[in-house]
Amino acid sequence: MAHWGYAQTILGPEKWYLDYLIGKEGKRQSPIDIKERDLDPKNFPSLDMCYDPSEITKVKNTGTSVKFFSTGTKSGFTGGPFQHRQRLVQFHFHWGAENNRGSEHTINGRPTSAELHFVHYNDKYPDATEAMKHPDGLSVLGVFIDVEDTCNPAYQVLLHNVRKVRYAHTEAHVEGCLDVDGLFPSDKGAFAHYHGSLTTPPLTECVEWINFREITGISQEQMDTFRGLYSTEEGKPAVPLVDNFRPVQPIHGRTVYCRDC
Ligand SMILES: [Zn+2]
Repeated sequence: MAHWGYAQTILGPEKWYLDYLIGKEGKRQSPIDIKERDLDPKNFPSLDMCYDPSEITKVKNTGTSVKFFSTGTKSGFTGGPFQHRQRLVQFHFHWGAENNRGSEHTINGRPTSAELHFVHYNDKYPDATEAMKHPDGLSVLGVFIDVEDTCNPAYQVLLHNVRKVRYAHTEAHVEGCLDVDGLFPSDKGAFAHYHGSLTTPPLTECVEWINFREITGISQEQMDTFRGLYSTEEGKPAVPLVDNFRPVQPIHGRTVYCRDC
């Protein structure tokens, strides 16, 4: 069981460094505030993305997020700043108790209601565990999510599966066909890129981040489905799983690149 949590627990983000010192002493920690006026334009190749829904077979409530795991090898992307293929390992969400917070990255100081992270490992390494030992081992595609008036059809099957893992440390087989492509913004050509870290312990500085500029939307009811999850196990006093985001970290002089900005 994870020995860390978020604001509602005694081992929230400001204490993580006690077990993971890099969280305080590291110079490329994530998330960050993406300041649009400081972005450095760069002509990266476009992203060539391919996600096979049949490879996403397991959903799990980890007590700190809800994660969908890939068990195949076909899902991932090439292009952008990368020379090698990036293979999907899992994707998961961060969200707030209220609509005015929830994302990990912020844009000009403003958070969105939620953030979706597609976690990949760099194909130049044999597996994700080995990849995490290298500064370019993992890549995460970050998607901003705000609550809006209309429901997002791409989330219907996904949220059906989220409802099956209400309690911490439960998992289920994914039912139905996920619309993975529909979770991304329509404009995949505009993104920020910087060198960062995992945003959860062990906070390893092995992540190349790509944060899409276009903000996607889900309805209030869809957002509330995430908030209906618990960070606690069945039979224990129920604590809602909300506000599972790490606050933004110092930039330490890093360049944040942007494509199509
Ligand atoms: Zn994440």
